[in-house]
Amino acid sequence: MRLVTYLHHGMTGVGVFDPDTARIKPLDLGDGRHIPDMLTLIREGLDAVVPSVMRAALPLIEVDLLAPIHRPARNVFCVGKNYRRHAEEFAQSGFDSSSSSAVPEHPVIFTKVPESVIGDRETIRYPAGLSNALDYEAELAVVIGRSGHGIARDEAMDYVFGYTIVNDVTARDWQQRHHQWFLGKSFDTFCPMGPVLVTADELDPSALDIRCWVNDELRQEANTRDLIFDIPTLIATISAGITLQPGDVIATGTPEGVGAGFNPPRFLERGNEVVIEIEGIGRLVNDVF
Ligand code: ZN
Repeated sequence: MRLVTYLHHGMTGVGVFDPDTARIKPLDLGDGRHIPDMLTLIREGLDAVVPSVMRAALPLIEVDLLAPIHRPARNVFCVGKNYRRHAEEFAQSGFDSSSSSAVPEHPVIFTKVPESVIGDRETIRYPAGLSNALDYEAELAVVIGRSGHGIARDEAMDYVFGYTIVNDVTARDWQQRHHQWFLGKSFDTFCPMGPVLVTADELDPSALDIRCWVNDELRQEANTRDLIFDIPTLIATISAGITLQPGDVIATGTPEGVGAGFNPPRFLERGNEVVIEIEGIGRLVNDVF
């Protein structure tokens, strides 16, 4: 299923998006209760969900799409330096104050605050007066479907609910200056997500093309087969000590081609448009202003 979270006449809901008809079929729980957000759907489980009897399909133009998980219950987990050529470009950029080695031996995990999440077509706010080094990062994001602690690699995919797109927007100067990446990654509006969440049964995430354009210029082009640490390894690593919860989001890292990787760097400016496309999921579009 291609799930979306929508806002319609002031009410949020979750539905199935049909790209052929550009309509959203609202979902309810089997007992008729309305599903206000994706976290409720994930916690109840897909088996508990039915097409709404009460509400007809909504034309896309009549709703606002929100991020699929528009307010995560806790921080978004992220992975740094998880594509080899990106790890090398980042090491050479001078903005990496985290370690001396380009390619990490173990996954580098950091988080973004839930309030940084915005949806498709929402604006990334340029942090005027704060940063001169605003950057984009196209990423495949994994959404966890059920609670788990100490998850083994070979069982990890059973815990995945689905996949979406994240732009891990970063103030590189803050990332560098404060050493810990949290601040420079968590500014308001720094986590565009969605708009579609594809359920795990419909997508094999192991070899998906991922691309990012800034103002129609292709900047990032890679494939998820090049991840240094694959999704099972990331789930096993994070859940070793932290119990993963339904609705947790793990952004799996960005490939080469970020603004900081160019010489001289090519950071985002006001008026730019960032488009991220992942095969089998769709497109996430945000302007910067
Ligand atoms: Zn990232």
